[in-house]
Amino acid sequence: MATAEVLCIGTELLLGDVLDTNSQFLAQQLALLGINCFHRVTVGDNPERIRECMRTALLRADILITSGGIGPTADDLTTESIAQVFGAPLDVDQEVLAFIEGLFAARGLKMPPSNAKQALRPRGARILPNPVGSAPGIIWTLGPAELAVLGLQDVQTVKSILTFPGVPSELKGMWAGTARGYLEETYAGGTIWSKELKHYGIGESALAEKFAHLLDLANPSVAPYAGNWECRLRVAAKAATLEEARALAQPVIDEIKQGSGVRCYGEDSDTLESVVGRLLTERGLTIALAESCTGGMVSERLTNIPGSSRYIMLNAVTYSNEAKHRVLGVSEEILNTQGAVSPECARAMALGIRQLTSCDLGLSVTGIAGPDGGTEEKPIGLVYLGLSARGADNEERYFARTLRLGKRLGRHEVRWRTAQEALNMVRLYLIDPQHLESP
Ligand code: ATP
Ligand code: MG
Repeated sequence: MATAEVLCIGTELLLGDVLDTNSQFLAQQLALLGINCFHRVTVGDNPERIRECMRTALLRADILITSGGIGPTADDLTTESIAQVFGAPLDVDQEVLAFIEGLFAARGLKMPPSNAKQALRPRGARILPNPVGSAPGIIWTLGPAELAVLGLQDVQTVKSILTFPGVPSELKGMWAGTARGYLEETYAGGTIWSKELKHYGIGESALAEKFAHLLDLANPSVAPYAGNWECRLRVAAKAATLEEARALAQPVIDEIKQGSGVRCYGEDSDTLESVVGRLLTERGLTIALAESCTGGMVSERLTNIPGSSRYIMLNAVTYSNEAKHRVLGVSEEILNTQGAVSPECARAMALGIRQLTSCDLGLSVTGIAGPDGGTEEKPIGLVYLGLSARGADNEERYFARTLRLGKRLGRHEVRWRTAQEALNMVRLYLIDPQHLESP
């Protein structure tokens, strides 16, 4: 299997001024071609360091892919650095020069001398056409002379260099137009198929422990990731075709789903809200929300799902006690004796919004998001959630959750974490209310 190394060139990337999205694109594309990518390097606009990175990459990978630094300005050093690595002369490509001159002429301008630089290519390299912008890149299939410069006399594999501009749309256009085909032809090595299994209600280390025997597998490989208060397991398989790769991965995917049960809530682009939306649609049920501490975040996430108007009746952000009383019918007694952040209030809010809308489900959130407002008895991060459901006999079925998130989380984190829990409560109810009975 061939190996590629991505080298992004540009001081603005190192400074963090520009987010390196080209590496992400290239990594995904290489995976689709079944080409390994073991290193992605970023280097500033410094000639010595650029040359050093290029040499290192060519010694440990078959393919060097560069992004950036092929423009007309003095800090665009990619092409000349490549030539310097091999001591190769730079030739002017007359066709490219005429093309760039033509672009200026079409606008009634004379080409500035600096732009001639974009028509240079090291002797032996080909032009990698740019269907979107002015400057093309190069494709260089290294010959024995270049390999000898690197000290590689007996290599069996083909080594190549491909250069792209930094501008993402141009890079993508050149990839689709020429580079992908070249790499496929030269390095056809199968493909990688992968699937993410998304989990809620189990931490990353517990997940890793549970499936420890799978994490050591080479093909398919299984890797855990965590973030945004959920965990993912990515199963990736390499094979000659997508179908074969998928078949390799499937038994492992089945095993994880089986082992995780309801804690595995979906795949790839699924979110808790999209799964909840799908389940509500399937069951033909409606929901209404009364949010205090989350300030509408649960509603926002649920209404983000196309088609949500079919099942959402009302989203109420009832922040003040007065709104809780007047809109939801929370009794003054509860508000005065237990307070707005209490299990009793959460229950009255959930029931209130459900009765107000005659919905199947009423969901409520009340809590203290911080950073101020906490007391010893009711600290920051204390959140009560309630789900009031219309049972088969029209009797209320009520489910409650309490979160104690502590005061170290920021306001946004408290809200997001709470929204995750709220959406998950609805999801579990819709799968089977039994999952909510014992917290
Ligand atoms: P130009 O002809 O525009 O100078 P270039 O090949 O010299 O093209 P750069 O000057 O390095 O490319 O980058 C041009 C622009 O492309 C940058 O200002 C930046 O916005 C964007 N860019 C550069 N590198 C990346 C990257 N790795 N990911 C995403 N965007 C990038
Ligand atoms: Mg540039």
